[in-house]
Amino acid sequence: MAKAVNSFAAVQEEIRIAVKQLNLDTDVYEMLKEPKRSLSVMIPVRMDDGTTRVFSGYRVQHNDALGPAKGGMRFHPDVSLDDVKALSTWMTFKCAVVGIPYGGAKGGVICEPKSLSPAELERLSRAYVRATSPILGPDQDIPAPDVNTNAQVMSWMMDEYSAIAGHNAFGMITGKPLIIGGSLGRTEATARGVVFILEETLRTLGRTIEGISVAIQGFGNVGSHAAKILYDKNVKIIALSDVKGGIFQTKGLNPYKVSEHQALTGSVVNYPGAKTISNAELLELSCDVLIPAALENQITASNAPRIQAQVIIEAANGPTTREADRILESRGILVVPDILANAGGVTVSYFEWVQNNMGFYWSEEEVNRRLGEIMVQAFHRVHLHMTKEQTSMRAAAYLLAVKRVAEAMQIRGWVSGKSTRQDKVKVTAR
Ligand code: NAD
Repeated sequence: MAKAVNSFAAVQEEIRIAVKQLNLDTDVYEMLKEPKRSLSVMIPVRMDDGTTRVFSGYRVQHNDALGPAKGGMRFHPDVSLDDVKALSTWMTFKCAVVGIPYGGAKGGVICEPKSLSPAELERLSRAYVRATSPILGPDQDIPAPDVNTNAQVMSWMMDEYSAIAGHNAFGMITGKPLIIGGSLGRTEATARGVVFILEETLRTLGRTIEGISVAIQGFGNVGSHAAKILYDKNVKIIALSDVKGGIFQTKGLNPYKVSEHQALTGSVVNYPGAKTISNAELLELSCDVLIPAALENQITASNAPRIQAQVIIEAANGPTTREADRILESRGILVVPDILANAGGVTVSYFEWVQNNMGFYWSEEEVNRRLGEIMVQAFHRVHLHMTKEQTSMRAAAYLLAVKRVAEAMQIRGWVSGKSTRQDKVKVTAR
């Protein structure tokens, strides 16, 4: 992760511009520029060798005007409070852009999960919930998986929270296994949403998905499922990567086989018959579509001039810096922003929570159908607004999302809303 770029400052700037363009009062900006609540915790964990290690963790709730705060849990050595603030802010606008009744939150623990034993990971997950449980809950703040967390971590967290609450609280977290209230289709949901968005994007460009070439950075939950869904639609996956490096094959890779290789060796690298490339090289390959699905700040001012894809679908959160955005826009490369492109995960998390609350579970077909409806409608709302406002797709998505959150805050009496003093909101040029 390029630490020089502060993603939180970047999203604050997006908010400032949207508030100004919407002619909203400065109090809207004041409410949205910082999270409503940030909790920092120290988490002591007994290690297998009998020693105690103290981990730092965060849970940040950016805004809950539209509903309970919602957002993933990240376990990563580079987690910082500013990163978690940025991620929670994106969640607020992501939920607003697809129109689901949630606010935004995010959590993180500074750790290298690969260096922890399963028992240590379980104790860390449970201890995190004990430290943050006063602000979690199905009506308050609902975590989910993010980088380096999965259904098993969600299960431990749900179990610990249920023990504290004194009853089963399945709806306090999403991304659970099916056996304890998970939803069919949740594991692949973010990737499936990315593919719905890609198909709609191509449609507006007068193209179809079949036969296009795609490069995907990141072969984790989102990247690997996106690769497989695309492969099944006859898309040519020319490059894939993970943290250890990338692989490239002009005639196209079979992601199912790459998954098997990754399971055996721990990486996509050295996949038989493919050329080894770096993550940086992957981003600059000649292809129709680039899908960043790893971490923040991968496309920057230094590599944006060399990107050759015609369309970028942001499966990761915050993969493009503001400077890179400007360069790509001037080069006519269409960037479909993260808050729209990767909203499939939170949308099916919402379905999971709805099913937990009802105690009635849907078929996978129903989940995928409802997901498709929401993603396609959201895409066209944003695309229409982009055309109407003659702006970037990211700016259009922020305009729609900020307007929605501001309206909820105004009607709840948190802010006055319409500005008579917009001159107080200073906007720096994009
Ligand atoms: P993951 O941990 O399952 O996978 C991350 C992948 O990125 C792995 O292949 C890892 O090796 C690779 N990676 C890590 N650091 C890298 C680096 N410096 N360079 C290149 N590759 C690197 O995580 P995920 O759940 O697939 O999330 C990926 C992105 O998608 C993140 O930005 C996350 O916030 C976003 N996202 C995830 C979901 C979800 O439902 N999981 C939903 C919305 C957005």
